[in-house]
Amino acid sequence: MSELNLYGTHVKDVANKDRLQKVFELQKQEKSKVFYVLPSQMWLQEARRKRPGLSSTTFDDIASFILNELTIPYVPLSEEERTLFFLQYVREEVTFRGEEVVSGKARAYADTYGQLKRLGLDLADIPTSLLPLRELFQRYEERVVSGRSMLDPENTILHAIKLLKQAPEQINISAIVIDGYYDFSPLQMLFIEALKEARISVKIFVPDHSNFAIVDQTVKELLSIGFEDQRVNRKEMKLVKQQELIAASTNEEQWCGLMEEIRLSEWTYDQIGLLVVDDRTDDVMKYADRYMVPVNKAKKRKLSTTSVHALLQLALSNTTAPKSKWEQLPLVEQVLRIYQVSGLEFAKQKQAFIQSAQWINEQHQELFTFIQHLQWEKSAAFIDYISKFRQVINKMELFTVFNEQLEQAEDVAKLQEIANEYKALQKIDEHLSKYEKLLLDKGLETLMMTHDLFIDWICGLGESLQLFEARASKQGVSIYTWRDVSLFQGEQLFVVGMNEGAFPAAHHLSGYVQERDILSGTVRFSPPTSEHFRLKQQAYFEQLQYVAKSITFTYVKGIDANHPLLPSALLEDLKESDQMWTWENRIGREYAFSSEDQQDKLAYHLGKGCIVENLPKEVHELRGRLDRLEKGAEPISLNQTHPVKPVVSVTALESYARCPFRYGMERVLQVTEPQAIQENVSPLDIGDLMHSIIEEIYQELNAVGQSFVALKEKIGHIPERIEELFEEKWEQVEKQSPEISRLDLQMTKQQWQKRLRRFWQAERKHFFDNANLEQMHIMAIEKPIRFELPLSDEKTLVLTGKADRIDRLNNSIVVYDYKSGHASVKMEDVQSGLKLQLPLYAFAIREELERLEEAVFQADGASYISLKEPNKRAGNGIWRTEHVGKSSRYNVSSFCRNREDHLGNEQFLIDHQLKERITEIWEGMQTNFPVEPLECSPFCSYRTVCRVTDEKREQAKS
Ligand code: SF4
Repeated sequence: MSELNLYGTHVKDVANKDRLQKVFELQKQEKSKVFYVLPSQMWLQEARRKRPGLSSTTFDDIASFILNELTIPYVPLSEEERTLFFLQYVREEVTFRGEEVVSGKARAYADTYGQLKRLGLDLADIPTSLLPLRELFQRYEERVVSGRSMLDPENTILHAIKLLKQAPEQINISAIVIDGYYDFSPLQMLFIEALKEARISVKIFVPDHSNFAIVDQTVKELLSIGFEDQRVNRKEMKLVKQQELIAASTNEEQWCGLMEEIRLSEWTYDQIGLLVVDDRTDDVMKYADRYMVPVNKAKKRKLSTTSVHALLQLALSNTTAPKSKWEQLPLVEQVLRIYQVSGLEFAKQKQAFIQSAQWINEQHQELFTFIQHLQWEKSAAFIDYISKFRQVINKMELFTVFNEQLEQAEDVAKLQEIANEYKALQKIDEHLSKYEKLLLDKGLETLMMTHDLFIDWICGLGESLQLFEARASKQGVSIYTWRDVSLFQGEQLFVVGMNEGAFPAAHHLSGYVQERDILSGTVRFSPPTSEHFRLKQQAYFEQLQYVAKSITFTYVKGIDANHPLLPSALLEDLKESDQMWTWENRIGREYAFSSEDQQDKLAYHLGKGCIVENLPKEVHELRGRLDRLEKGAEPISLNQTHPVKPVVSVTALESYARCPFRYGMERVLQVTEPQAIQENVSPLDIGDLMHSIIEEIYQELNAVGQSFVALKEKIGHIPERIEELFEEKWEQVEKQSPEISRLDLQMTKQQWQKRLRRFWQAERKHFFDNANLEQMHIMAIEKPIRFELPLSDEKTLVLTGKADRIDRLNNSIVVYDYKSGHASVKMEDVQSGLKLQLPLYAFAIREELERLEEAVFQADGASYISLKEPNKRAGNGIWRTEHVGKSSRYNVSSFCRNREDHLGNEQFLIDHQLKERITEIWEGMQTNFPVEPLECSPFCSYRTVCRVTDEKREQAKS
């Protein structure tokens, strides 16, 4: 007769040594198996440490044992691998809630399936709302579970349950002891019930304290399936003596504050424990490293972070379809990383490849070419993919490469890095070999796989396999989760991140399963509702009182984008400590925990204006760099053999005014921009195309010198002519843009065709159909400008340029400049030198006309014509007052603020101090290229070298 007994235990007595010993004795006596089940890996490790040789295990492992006992051939599938198979089936046509099922949702479908199985539901009992997915789930079960004998964790347990019912006599287990569980999933309960039916003795030890309502619920269910309650007295011995709550201003301060507290604690590290509320332990390792706090947890790294895994992924994804140089670049980079090429060598090789597809090193080229020629079947047997992949790894001779590198490297960090790459490759190869053998042993040689799925499988390996980086420090601080915190044996426990919302956390079922789906009664044992999880978290919280004498809860205080950050509601009765962990409190302290910490603190005091003696070299250097960034000065002594000729283009002056540093890089040092993949048609190409079309149509018309009214009869065909010219010239643009997709090119083309049509309509409106300008005419197109400007220091500067168009009516002129982008002008921009073309061209042309014709001329206006806003005549030009407003013959809107009655005259230059500004710019252009932008483009390629500060960019904007 099998025993089914239920006992109570103190949370700290889970995996009690005597209990483990008794079970171990039983294990020795019995011929059949005896298992000891515990709820987490940490508990299992503890049990193995206390009683080596005892079969301490999990429900999943017992299920696998049962399947193996009955020699059922199967391949275990992880949850990740299950998702891969779903991906394959969702590609076939399935609709769910009216939506076509897409592969991006494969994970959600796989999770939904896993959740249903954990609820112990059969596909016949699937909730109504999920019925549309039944077909997909059936297909998965038929083809993967039954067809290929591949069992995910839930199906392994379900299969074991079936075997327990069908052939109990063949299952060689005599007893199972389950310890430390607060609750069981419906699937685990079905498993326990099946153990009972198979007449296997089961003893369950549950934590037995008051306010553990979740355990009461579990006990009730166990009793309902036949367990006998052997609990005697509640275990009420509490340990807690003192509790406190500390707020931190940010997450970073929470960790810094915590680590400083640990460093200053009266307790040794092994007496201190950390419970990280959200289970994310990456931060613990990071800050523990920073504060040199030893941690009793091994340091591990995912294989996906290694270069070798990335290279193998690229090798596996290779197709022989033609690729652009940009598409080949990731492989180039990865090959270089494998060979430990870095710094300048790395940059040189990349540049050589982008420019001419050349390789500097033959060995690197061989590996690159080998990978580039790899071809993979779209679909093949899983085992064939594995075997081919192993052969590829072999042919790459990466082990030899790493061995050679290990022999040559001297730097310790580099040696470590190479050793990690070596170990990662070894792990991958071992795993592949193991899987290959598994498939062979289980007779699954014909199991099919697709190329995509195989890539995803290898990608998944990178996430699941880990590299061991550093041992746990036995004397270090221990890290726990809520499930295993009762293992804590020390004095002081910190519970980190106890924010409202983080604990108790909202519970979500996996995939598309909703709470209402599990309340219909089909789930036999306690369904995992929100209430269930609330009770479980409440019990987790209550256990702390039995676990440590001193507990410090910490949380982040403040306001995020949506709501105030508050402590957990469970801490309502706890008074917040007066000390708060903030940056100001921390940085202002008089002691430091490391040399970096000391430097930070010294830098802070220095910044506050304190006098710091014996400033460390690093801080001194840092200060120098900051000063340099703040000043932004970049003087250059140009090694010029001849004196500089006083000739400069107006656009160069503008460019220097926009950003002297950028001007220095582009025009003086001629540092070319880094090459990058072309995503849009070059604005320069567009600008040239538009200018050439405008120039050609007016030239073909012989427009120069003819009044607008005379031309009016001859312009009917212009729209068609513009279309023709555009088509012709666009071909060239396409040739210059080989990396842009056809679709993008087509869209850009249509956009500019439309803009040109609107441009011509505006030209008609403002000139040819404008009754006020009937007698006006185009005086010149693309007119070269060259004039002398006497500067304020009695020198003369020759300025050059080209005016797109000049119109003339009697002795009045107007200067126009066509722009393909948006264009505007403000008088401040003129004074600062950002917009000099319009006023200086107006000045130069008026002077020239007066000299040639010996008559008085005046500039009525000077304006940009933007191809994006061709109708605009307001903020894009400078006009005499009489030509602004309702009566303007040039249609200039009354919104135009740039009213200048001296436009084109000497007085204009005086009013706006242009000579002084031009002198300043011209002198700067010879030697001084500071990071002092007046306009800082977000797309500027020199940003990485100029390191412009945010303040300077803000100043430029304002
Ligand atoms: S990023 Fe700004 S400041 Fe730096 S070079 Fe470019 S334009 Fe000048």
